[in-house]
This record gives sequence, structure tokens and C-alpha cells, in this order.
Amino acid sequence: MTDLPEGVERRAFDGRQRLATRGPPVYGEPTDEEWRLWDAGRSKLAAMIESGLDTGLDGGETVLYLGAASGTTVSHVADFAGPTYAVEFAPRPVRDLVGVAEDRPNLFPLLKDARKPETYAHVVEADVDAIVQDVATRGQARVAVENRRFLREDGRLLAAIKARSEDVTRDPDDVFEDALADLREGYEVLETARLEPYHDDHLGVVARPE
Ligand code: SAM
Repeated sequence: MTDLPEGVERRAFDGRQRLATRGPPVYGEPTDEEWRLWDAGRSKLAAMIESGLDTGLDGGETVLYLGAASGTTVSHVADFAGPTYAVEFAPRPVRDLVGVAEDRPNLFPLLKDARKPETYAHVVEADVDAIVQDVATRGQARVAVENRRFLREDGRLLAAIKARSEDVTRDPDDVFEDALADLREGYEVLETARLEPYHDDHLGVVARPE
């Protein structure tokens, strides 16, 4: 089992040891007095951790999160990370995200298109420690390559690749192979894992800039 970042623990929920972070509740998730359940069935990053991938996260990192939606996963990230820039291009979820950030002074929502990093380059600090990506859109590897500019030399890309977002008709393994080939235009791929049983036809990828 890989080490958890500081600020992430396994706690008893529903009689099982589950991932949890400490922070104000966001989406009706179960909580005990301090900790809130970080459900791998709702979060690709939590599923990557549960799948045994070494994310390289220690806690306290500066994070660029691509595809934040209404903040389910990025709220947990902001619980244990340092400055957390959350990019999402759909206005409605960003409204919720802004509400999530009210309780988290280290979380910075950005209503931006992750395919156009130049539009937020003036806001996001250079040399972030980690890019977490869950955009579930065609061209996922290209989005990661285009955002590599923000990542420090030995930083980590933690990406979830959804096969069906690329092509619903192709075998997911073939889609993943192509996505990894595209990723290698900017990254060295360190580890991969399928995210079943938490998320069907998703590949978790840990990579570093090359
Ligand atoms: N990561 C979220 C979570 O776990 O809480 C769920 C993300 S959802 C699977 C994918 C999100 O990526 C959607 O909200 C979608 O609007 C967003 N997205 C897709 N393409 C994007 C792009 N080019 N720029 C920014 N956001 C994008």
C-alpha cells in the first residue's frame, strides 16, 4: 500500500476503512466529527490512490486541477494540498465551485478552458508540484501536454483517461495505448492502473515532465 499524503487518512466509515480528508463538508458526504469520506467511487484521484498508484503527493503541494466540475474531488485536494488552482470551463459547476472555495482560502476556481493554458498563465504560479487532470473530453492527453508548462521539473501529472470520451466504439485498451503515446510527447509515464471497480474504462496515469 502506498503512503498517503499528510492530511489524508483511512477512517472507519460504514464499518470499513475508507479514505478521508479533513475539511468542511461539500456534497452531502458522510463525516465523523472532523473527517469526511473521500469516496473512490466518486473521485478518480481517490481511485488512483486506492488502486495503489504512487501519486508522489505528500500534502501541502501547489496543485493545478483540470476539470474541477462542481468541486467534489478538488475540495478534498484543497483539504490536504497548498494553493490549489481549479480549472473548469462550464459556468454552472463553477458557480458551485466558488461556493466550495468560500470555505477554503487555498482554493482558486478559474472559469477557463484547459485547452487554452495561455488564458490562465498569468494567474497560476509557475512550477506547480502536481497537475491533477480529469477532463473526460476528447484529446485528454493533449490537454495534459499543453499544461505541462506549469509543472516543475520533477513534478507529477496525475491523470484519469476516460476511454469513452475519446471513442465509444474502440476497445479501451487501444484508446489507452494511443493516449499514452500522445502523453509521451511531453511526459515520461511512470505508472498506470485501470480504475475498476471504482470507474469503468478509465486509466489512471502517473507521469513526470520529460
Ligand atoms: N474532477 C471532477 C471531480 O471528480 O469532482 C469531475 C470532472 S468531470 C468527469 C469532467 C469535467 O471536466 C466536466 O465538469 C467538464 O465540464 C470539464 N471539462 C471538460 N473539458 C474541459 C476543458 N477543456 N477545460 C475545462 N474543463 C473541462
